[in-house]
Amino acid sequence: MSESATVTVAGSCSCGAVRFDVRSPSKFCAHCHCDNCRRAHGAAFVTYAGYPADQVRVTAGRDSLVRYRTDTDATRSFCGTCGSTLFYEGPRWPDEIHVARANIDGEIDRLPDAHAYVDHAADWWTIADELSQFGGDSGVEPKVPER
Ligand SMILES: [Zn+2]
Ligand SMILES: [Zn+2]
Repeated sequence: MSESATVTVAGSCSCGAVRFDVRSPSKFCAHCHCDNCRRAHGAAFVTYAGYPADQVRVTAGRDSLVRYRTDTDATRSFCGTCGSTLFYEGPRWPDEIHVARANIDGEIDRLPDAHAYVDHAADWWTIADELSQFGGDSGVEPKVPER
């Protein structure tokens, strides 16, 4: 009774071929500025919601899901029809799936609360919010923002 009810939220790629759902509680929600993520998504940074792997379920279009193994032994999964990047699974975070937040339809159990890999960030983007920052070689060392 003390546990808050788990909530399942649906998501999909942009063409709708791949559908999935994620079940709360999430482990984190944060923006990643690493080069690898920026290129994979064609964006200044990528916002992920992280879940234990068994809380992410592909509900349709599993055949459309293409898995790409990166040079860092991570796996990125995207829709083979429309190219939407959906899931990241890395050896540093075993048994976790990092889901592209933009592809989850509704509200989840938390808002993004941090920036990671800030030392690798695009030099044409300025982080202008008050969220925690992490960087250094590992990408996840706590940083004191320069103000
Ligand atoms: Zn698609
Ligand atoms: Zn990244």
